[in-house]
Amino acid sequence: MLAIDVAIPLHLDSTYHYHVPPSLASESAIGKRVLVPFGRRRLVGVVLGAAESREELKPVIAFLDPEPLLTADELEFLRWAAAYYLHPLGEVVRAALPAGLLNPPRSGSSEEAAPDQRLKIHREPFFKVVSGSEAHPRLGSRALAIFTAIAAAAELSRTELRGRFGETGAPLKRLVELGLVTREERELYRDPFREEVVARDEELLLNEHQAAAHGALVAALGRGSFAPFLLHGVTGSGKTEVYLQTIAAAVAAGKNGLVLVPEIALTPQLVKRFRRRFDCGIAVLHSALSDGERYDEWRRIRRGEVRIVIGARSAIFAPLVNIGIIVVDEEHEPTYKQSEGFRYNARDLALVRGKRADAVVLLGSATPLLTSIQGVVEGKLLSLELPERVRGFPLPEIQVADLRGRRGTVISSRLLAELRKNLEVGGQTLLFLNRRGFATYLVCGDCGHVIRCPNCSVTLTYHRNRERNVCHYCDYSLPAATLCPGCNGGAITLLGQGTERVEEELRELFPEARIARMDRDTTAGKGGHAKILKGLEEGSTDILVGTQMIAKGHDFPGVTLVGVLAIDTVLNFPDFRSAERAYQLLTQVIGRAGRGENPGRVVVQSLMPDHYAIARALAHDGAGFYREELEFRQEAGYPPFAHLAALHFSGNVEESVRKGAEAAAALLTALRRSRGGRVELLGPIASPLAKVRGRYRWQLLLKSRRRDILHTLLKAFREEWRTPAGVRVNIDVDPVEMM
Ligand code: ADP
Ligand code: ZN
Repeated sequence: MLAIDVAIPLHLDSTYHYHVPPSLASESAIGKRVLVPFGRRRLVGVVLGAAESREELKPVIAFLDPEPLLTADELEFLRWAAAYYLHPLGEVVRAALPAGLLNPPRSGSSEEAAPDQRLKIHREPFFKVVSGSEAHPRLGSRALAIFTAIAAAAELSRTELRGRFGETGAPLKRLVELGLVTREERELYRDPFREEVVARDEELLLNEHQAAAHGALVAALGRGSFAPFLLHGVTGSGKTEVYLQTIAAAVAAGKNGLVLVPEIALTPQLVKRFRRRFDCGIAVLHSALSDGERYDEWRRIRRGEVRIVIGARSAIFAPLVNIGIIVVDEEHEPTYKQSEGFRYNARDLALVRGKRADAVVLLGSATPLLTSIQGVVEGKLLSLELPERVRGFPLPEIQVADLRGRRGTVISSRLLAELRKNLEVGGQTLLFLNRRGFATYLVCGDCGHVIRCPNCSVTLTYHRNRERNVCHYCDYSLPAATLCPGCNGGAITLLGQGTERVEEELRELFPEARIARMDRDTTAGKGGHAKILKGLEEGSTDILVGTQMIAKGHDFPGVTLVGVLAIDTVLNFPDFRSAERAYQLLTQVIGRAGRGENPGRVVVQSLMPDHYAIARALAHDGAGFYREELEFRQEAGYPPFAHLAALHFSGNVEESVRKGAEAAAALLTALRRSRGGRVELLGPIASPLAKVRGRYRWQLLLKSRRRDILHTLLKAFREEWRTPAGVRVNIDVDPVEMM
């Protein structure tokens, strides 16, 4: 009797064993989906392997795929990730597959019905003229016209024929019956972006530094063993060109390439550069794809129809085989960390997957993570450097507008003067501000009451377009004209600036300028980002105001002025990484200026211009910043000199959440003692964001110099811990968000 081990996507640690009846034995295979009884439900899981058969096992109901969805090697990788992140394997498998594939069948559907009806595969008939056949004398005029069109095109789909001839059912049927035309059904992939026409481009002649980096990478590809690199190149140094040419070398050698980007919608330029350069199949895992479109891209990859995959975080699970190189572009971006559910980090998993595949892993950034800089020091990463901008373009010249004693200034006179000058010469300007909305702080002028969200521990932001005060965490909103809830007065004062207010002020200051804004409010729909970026590219935008979205690796040669309205909020975050974040963000924003023939200028407004993160960024002194920050981390015992895990507790009753967190801390303390210590417990404390969406939040931080000791402690904790009713606990290994 055959039995199998099945991963089921539930928040449960175990996998489950089932019996395979002889009638289904020939269909059973590792990596296929299988419909199984589970309690009184029927659920869909994935076959992990054989199990020891026992009498009491329940039989599986059906296997759902003709071919396995995942290879044994991919399942091994997922198992590793589940163990490392202390997350149930079934949920890890679900995260790795296109959305919906592991959904349980709808009640009432037949037993065999695939549970992914939602993701129906599109089929389309194609028509071809049978070789040697000629127009039949008895054909009607419509059938004759259709026959001629098919003959001229070699092959046409029904959709194409309908487009030209309207309803074609009867004449096509007749053509097929007469044996003049063949009909063949084929699968059709959906991808709303593939049709975009792009002009081909050629490889650029690499400069000396690019050539050295490329040479080292190609040599590593040739060796065919795992080789992890950090490509540290200043903004505009031509990192992307190195990615393109190295992937070209991998493809030429018969290998495939995986490219991770922080967010596809924000990187339309990068995707376009790949489409221009490569003729081989490229799959792009867009965030704007529907589930069906995503499933189609996934199947193209699974079938080996593409050689290059570009995608955000979850593309690290793309079913690409024979990987020669994995590129992680802008490796410092926090978006590589999934912050809910299965909390993995795609940048870290790229190294793990690359090692399993004997591939080259290329982490690229102008502002690498501290961890990567230290990785080079320790010899874990090989260092490649591009210290200069391409074609000798200089880094931009920077001025500081010190805002001390001038609180409330939105645009300083210095920045204003530069803006005016830049508009006069027809240059483009980017203005960066880390807050969206109009006013970020609403306070009653009579009683001092501050308007807060009832569900979250944050203040509401006034949005003038919507005439509402909005919570940025839960979307709760009030009409803007509300009276003060404290004293019923109407003297609500608007403090704090958001991008919306800056945009409005600019329109008053420069009525003739063409001004656009890029933040979460203006980029909601499909293609929203691309449209705004196009305005810059085509020169139809003079000034773009935006949040950190405008800092993301864009290459716009027309931008000659960058203004940083405020960066201090980033530095003031209660997080040990706040200096690193501020340095990275500032350097990236500054780096958008002067990427063309005309040199760039930058004005940075700040209340703390002497802080080392700001001062070093302004001086283009990366080495200095990293030295200082590494010293701080070492003294304080933070990563990269220690490993962290966070336990997040949440629930609707604050008292139970606090008690839960305290009980967990007590259990960890006891477990730690029996294991000889060496793990530091910080907390429990109420999270800096103490309440979100009506749920109270507490957290506990664990810190250790030894990853293995931390891991064993957490494993033991998970085995013994019984979560109290009404409290949710999440383990976050290598946390990135501390809020
Ligand atoms: P980065 O990714 O390091 O910010 P990019 O790869 O976007 O830099 O390059 C910046 C600009 O320089 C792009 O417009 C790119 O086409 C151009 N470029 C890159 N390498 C070269 C080269 N070797 N010669 C000329 N132009 C180059
Ligand atoms: Zn809220």
